[in-house]
Amino acid sequence: MTMQNVGRPTRPEDVQPLAPAFASLTGGRGLLQDEALIFERDGWTKTGVDLPAADLDGSDLGDLARAAPIGLPGLSEPEAMRHYVRLSQKNHAIDLALYPLGSCTMKHNPRLNEKMARLAGFADLHPMAPLPTVQGALALMDRLSHWLKTLTGMPAVALSPKAGAHGELCGLLAIRAAHEARGDPRRRVLVPTSAHGTNPATAAFVGYSVTEIAQTDDGRVDLADLAAKLGPDVAAIMVTNPNTCGLFERDIIEIARLTHEAGAYFYCDGANFNAIVGRVRPGDLGVDAMHINLHKTFSTPHGGGGPGAGPVVLSEALAPFAPAPWVVHGANGLTLVEEAVEEAAQAFGRMSAFHGQMGMFVRAYAYMRSHGADGLRQVAEDAVLNANYVKARLSGVMTPAFPEGPCMHEALFDDSWLEGTGVTTLDFAKAMIDEGFHPMTMYFPLVVHGAMLIEPTETESKQELDRFCDALVALAQAAKAGDVDRFKGAPYLAPMRRLDETLAARKPRLTWKPESGVAPAPLAAE
Ligand SMILES: *Cc1c(COP(=O)(O)O)cnc(C)c1O
Repeated sequence: MTMQNVGRPTRPEDVQPLAPAFASLTGGRGLLQDEALIFERDGWTKTGVDLPAADLDGSDLGDLARAAPIGLPGLSEPEAMRHYVRLSQKNHAIDLALYPLGSCTMKHNPRLNEKMARLAGFADLHPMAPLPTVQGALALMDRLSHWLKTLTGMPAVALSPKAGAHGELCGLLAIRAAHEARGDPRRRVLVPTSAHGTNPATAAFVGYSVTEIAQTDDGRVDLADLAAKLGPDVAAIMVTNPNTCGLFERDIIEIARLTHEAGAYFYCDGANFNAIVGRVRPGDLGVDAMHINLHKTFSTPHGGGGPGAGPVVLSEALAPFAPAPWVVHGANGLTLVEEAVEEAAQAFGRMSAFHGQMGMFVRAYAYMRSHGADGLRQVAEDAVLNANYVKARLSGVMTPAFPEGPCMHEALFDDSWLEGTGVTTLDFAKAMIDEGFHPMTMYFPLVVHGAMLIEPTETESKQELDRFCDALVALAQAAKAGDVDRFKGAPYLAPMRRLDETLAARKPRLTWKPESGVAPAPLAAE
């Protein structure tokens, strides 16, 4: 029998006979119950709330009066609560365990941040509240702006972008506006082969054609190729630093110099700012625009499409084109620049209807203030230390993609160590689930074959890192020892086994249709 690290069997022949009668009765397992869609429960004839019958004259609504039932399932409070809590148990969460997704920075979200964000003065704000009544919120945005500019060494910041990719869009729109203001609209954006997919997508969305820059054998931007591809039609380069291989771009200053010499702007994808915050100021490296994922570096919650925030810092050259709104100090306190007049005459427009993600601003600011300057620097140092610990511990059994020298905040392995085992990166990742660990990022960056990108973050203890590494070492040894079934059928213990991800991506089922007998047929119009 093959056991995972808490002693549960992980082989098909060991798992399946575990009380099949129970499993087939309810679809449950352990204390986890199977859960139907909320629409598939028998809730159509009841309601979970007790309201007096509406005393309305339907004739006021004319032909807008509803003729058919509204078509929402009615659940009692315990049913509704259990439904969502059970669903949440089927998912992984940073509050459950280490979440080593490279490039995602899934780190602990301190509860202090949550407490601050729930203060009524922040949580109950309305975006259209009169400015004199929201001076505290404006002050927080102003302070957050101040520290983002200070930490990056940049003179301006746009807070309103709502995620990293939205920030990229903001930065490139500012770059486009700057070129157009000079009467020199350029056509091309250069992006390294290792870039996050959002970079070329953003450039294309803004209307640029994308040219790839090659990568050197040691995982950095190929300077000769960059120089060859720069030209008078290049509007910008987009470089991630530290890059998606988890490596610092050593030639970053030369990259900036070459770019500026060609009349182009330097967009830095700053999603990995957590690896350098407090140590390096991107403004000193020659960056013109950079988004900061508050939901990565500054620990605001993310995953599952939840709200992020992607403020963009801008250089002197791009600052005049920053989108509205921003906070200014007026004669009667703080106010917002909203219109493209006077000092904002060149603003390229807006990124969103209002100011951005206030809840994330509060969390990020709380995080900055509770860490202080020394704490933020230690965040970067510990993130890098933890990644190098993982790299060192796993290098004996797995093959690091770039063995030379230390990595930054994430450790990247390729799949050459799996050659001949019959086990793939995907199989290995799925087997990690049976060990109680969420898989690392797989098959990204694309430049590394069968990539496994592990970002432990600074919030994991050595003990937890050791548990994780012990599990991976044991799995790697099992793969090399030929225990292929353990991998091919994994995960054996998850509520959902292997899904057809291609089908799900190509033919997503986005609507629910009632099966006959489940939901009531709509009433005929009276
Ligand atoms: C996460 C990430 C992004 C995108 O950020 P979102 O907030 O998910 O839009 C872009 N680039 C890199 C390198 C990233 O890690």
